[in-house]
Amino acid sequence: MQPFNYFIAGPCAAESEEQVYETARQLYEHSKGFPIPLSFFRAGVWKPRSSANSFCGVGEVAFPWLQRVEKDFHFPICVEIANTQHIEICQKYNIRHIWIGARTAVNPFIIQDLADAIRGGNFTVMVKNPVIPDLKLWIGNIERFEKAGAAQVLAVHRGFAEQKENVLRNAPLWEIPIELRIQRPDIPIICDPSHIAGNTTYIKQISQIAIDYGFNGLMIETHCSPTKALSDQQQQLTPDELQTLLSQLIFKQNNLPDNLLRKQRTLIRNIDAQISQLLSKRMELVEEIAKIKKERQMPLIQPEQWNQVVNNYQQYAHHDPCFDEFLQKYLSLLHQYSLLKQQEINHENNH
Ligand code: PEP
Ligand code: MN
Repeated sequence: MQPFNYFIAGPCAAESEEQVYETARQLYEHSKGFPIPLSFFRAGVWKPRSSANSFCGVGEVAFPWLQRVEKDFHFPICVEIANTQHIEICQKYNIRHIWIGARTAVNPFIIQDLADAIRGGNFTVMVKNPVIPDLKLWIGNIERFEKAGAAQVLAVHRGFAEQKENVLRNAPLWEIPIELRIQRPDIPIICDPSHIAGNTTYIKQISQIAIDYGFNGLMIETHCSPTKALSDQQQQLTPDELQTLLSQLIFKQNNLPDNLLRKQRTLIRNIDAQISQLLSKRMELVEEIAKIKKERQMPLIQPEQWNQVVNNYQQYAHHDPCFDEFLQKYLSLLHQYSLLKQQEINHENNH
């Protein structure tokens, strides 16, 4: 598995030459205190805002500012692109690192156009998760850029839009990037805690969770004076605050000798094999019961029976909140599938 080796910082948006340069200069000054060197300096040039009346980015004029940052501080530059014209402009200024925003990521037609436009261009493409929690779409987008021959494709986890009010701006739904890791262990995942949090309070906590899960990098919005920022004011850190935050994170080592865990892993594999066999046996018994219920024309749901099953389980519960929640979900799934199987048998030869 890949280590933690991507670190991206920079403002939400490029606003002026001074703001871009000053942010980069301060990042450069603090960079000795960073756990790894800055992989990319980020800055949005075109901003996908909800309202046309909001600051929508300065556009092409920002590129010479970013080139100056690259020249003076040796930070590779990355920008968000959302249409093929943006890619042409990146090529014009020799910017080869781009990211796909969460809103763009919901449209496969646009993603395909973008993938076709980067073909042969030697681009690093960071694919943010779509705003909706759709893992297949996220993976599909990654594959489109891989097929187009991108130099490198990375995933960026920035959380998922939710209608209900929450302390976080976007729901992390960690199970989705974790499933991405399981399905595509070869794709590095970068966490963007700034857009998940939407404020500076939770950035550290979210970054630590991402590191604990073994994600491979962080993208953190950084501005030389956040209170004057024209977008995402609440969530941007100064380079100084960023350095403090990074110094408080606990980075994991990935060099644990495998044999240290061999015994426990073997035992767990054996238990899992037994659970799987027992579950099949349980399903066979459910089928027998279903046939009897069918013959006798009995209803499929028998609440008193099911309550006994639940009580039986609870005797063995550990009674810690996490385990209890798991057990509840597990039992509900077990019942659901048992009923589904019984339905199937009930309908056999009925039509
Ligand atoms: C951004 O990175 O500034 C941005 C607009 O992100 P997202 O697409 O995740 O909202
Ligand atoms: Mn932003």
